[in-house]
Amino acid sequence: MLDTPIDQVFDYCWEVGEAASEPVPGQFVLVPFGPREVMGLIVAVSDTSDLPTEKLKSALAIRDQVHPVADAWIALCRFAAEYYQRPLGEVALPGVPKNLRTAKLVALNRALKKIADGFSNQDATPFGMPALNRAQEDAVEAIDAARAYAPMLLYGVTGSGKTEVYLQAAARLLARTPDAQILILVPEINLTPQLESNVRARFPGLHVATLHSGLAEGERMLSWLAAHHGHARIVLGTRLAVLASLPRLALIIIDEEHDPSYKQQEGLRYSARDLAVWRARQLDIPIVLGSATPSLESWLHAQSRRYRRLELRERAVPDAVLPTVRLINMERDRPIEGLTSTLMTALRLRLERREQSLLFLNRRGYAPVLHCDSCGWLSNCLRCSAFMVLHRPEHCLRCHHCSLELRIPRACPTCGNVDLQPMGRGTQRVEEGLQRLFPEARILRIDADSTRRKGTAQAAFDSVHRGEVDILIGTQMVAKGHDFKNLTLVGILNPDTALFSHDYRASERLFAQLMQVSGRAGRAGQKEGGSASEVWIQTRYPQHPLYGALMAHDYDRFADDLLTERQQAGLPPFVYQALLRAEARELQTALDFLQAAAGAIDHPGITINDPIPMTMTRVANVDRAQLLLESPSRPALQAFLRGWMPLLRAMRTRARWSLEVDPVDI
Ligand code: ADP
Ligand code: ZN
Ligand code: ZN
Repeated sequence: MLDTPIDQVFDYCWEVGEAASEPVPGQFVLVPFGPREVMGLIVAVSDTSDLPTEKLKSALAIRDQVHPVADAWIALCRFAAEYYQRPLGEVALPGVPKNLRTAKLVALNRALKKIADGFSNQDATPFGMPALNRAQEDAVEAIDAARAYAPMLLYGVTGSGKTEVYLQAAARLLARTPDAQILILVPEINLTPQLESNVRARFPGLHVATLHSGLAEGERMLSWLAAHHGHARIVLGTRLAVLASLPRLALIIIDEEHDPSYKQQEGLRYSARDLAVWRARQLDIPIVLGSATPSLESWLHAQSRRYRRLELRERAVPDAVLPTVRLINMERDRPIEGLTSTLMTALRLRLERREQSLLFLNRRGYAPVLHCDSCGWLSNCLRCSAFMVLHRPEHCLRCHHCSLELRIPRACPTCGNVDLQPMGRGTQRVEEGLQRLFPEARILRIDADSTRRKGTAQAAFDSVHRGEVDILIGTQMVAKGHDFKNLTLVGILNPDTALFSHDYRASERLFAQLMQVSGRAGRAGQKEGGSASEVWIQTRYPQHPLYGALMAHDYDRFADDLLTERQQAGLPPFVYQALLRAEARELQTALDFLQAAAGAIDHPGITINDPIPMTMTRVANVDRAQLLLESPSRPALQAFLRGWMPLLRAMRTRARWSLEVDPVDI
């Protein structure tokens, strides 16, 4: 198997007796491929080949110092390749470290030695285990008692101590089976550094490896090999870690299982959550899916008892209660600098009491668009059907879709008016307004722009934890996982836009996001003389049921209602979807391809909708269109795709296309 777009395996020969080792399936092998030498994986060894002997090339070297991968791992890759309609080599090999694929033997041997030396004696004794509360204890018991495939939904409100459940379930498993491996998946490791340090602090004698896309090549090889050779007992990683080779995997934990970043959005567009569940079933091991706002897919499984539901209804820290969530009607309380008077009063109170506040606005930049009052000009991107965002500190207009950057025009390009106005408000503008309103406050903005350089995000969060910040303003980056002990106020600035999105998942996501960011408040329990924790939402639609459910902290009802709606409308998780996307210089080329694709084959039991331009049609001078396929039966959809894909590959078109199974952004 090679990492090529060609969907096949390749034959090579190996002279018997030439070297000490004989090839076995699962080994990595260096082979010539065209003009290059590439690393492949042996999937089968045979005495014969369909190729004539003179055409067979010789394999160059076997990496026999690396253990062969297990059959189960190849089966996992094969399943993913078939399910997502991609070549096997493209699924299995890109995750394998480059140094193992290219010929850097010295580096490889050094890494192997380092792993073997460093972790010969591991000690799974956990350090500093707090006593669990009753609900946590029940959850840990349930996980510990599961000795076979057992999917469990750990449904716990923010701050209910889900992490503690993961850690103690891990501790029990390791006490029972010291060489077991545990995979813990998190949405974004850089945003949850606390979890990593908690895991390491809890198991100081264990080899804990991390796997995520931010690792340098050398670190990645160490982690990958440590996992693959079974040294790493706990592997903490982002979605790509679901494809790690883990020969003794015995428990999988997915934190924040609803998080959209578990879905890969390019190339192999897999869902790490779905693959993890498949993997657990394949290996017959338990899997825990944790969330305060589970995905509707998992919610439905819990309702139908396919997943067992474990609940944590209360916050774990004694005296910590969920914050009071209230709405501010922006039609009545008109905002100044984006802040209503109610929110300003709440901020002032926190400043007086030396407590921290968090303002959440999911829009970075200074203003989403620059505008000319006299002729109506707007800062459209030259290459996309989108506005260029004003970034004032960086002195530029920037397109968030194609990264085009332009200097801020001094005057309107159409009429020459020099008084161009920012329209709307991003985090930079709110930060500026805060500095005017609260000159004495220490204000920090955390978003993708303020944390571009490596390490800056971590440094920013650390300074919040050290209490050096009074008001934190940020995008979704600040919503995740952080346990800010002195934070008693969360203000949500402008969530309304997502209420009326064309994407049927928007309200599910918005709810999850608001619940998560609200959950940053009041985690430490109210101090003597301190403020009760509050969440204020500024909205123009205070009657909206989503906000009602949020105020009541009632995800149960919200999720049940959404599921009913989805069922009535025939939407996932009640139907299965696939999305064919096409892009070309001319929209018509893309649409023509999709039209031809739709007519390429009979499709009983599959609904193929009309091809349509994507909502944001043009990105980087390319027009994009899509074709949505639906079926009430997953096997039927899979069978159809298997027959359809070869026909698509054979079609002649100038459009570039890709298929996504179980798409999340439509
Ligand atoms: P979640 O992941 O559910 O949002 P965390 O795992 O971050 O919640 O826990 C929230 C807080 O509760 C943390 O500060 C944690 O140390 C604390 N905590 C968890 N379990 C307990 C317990 N049994 N007793 C006391 N504090 C706990
Ligand atoms: Zn103008
Ligand atoms: Zn653009």
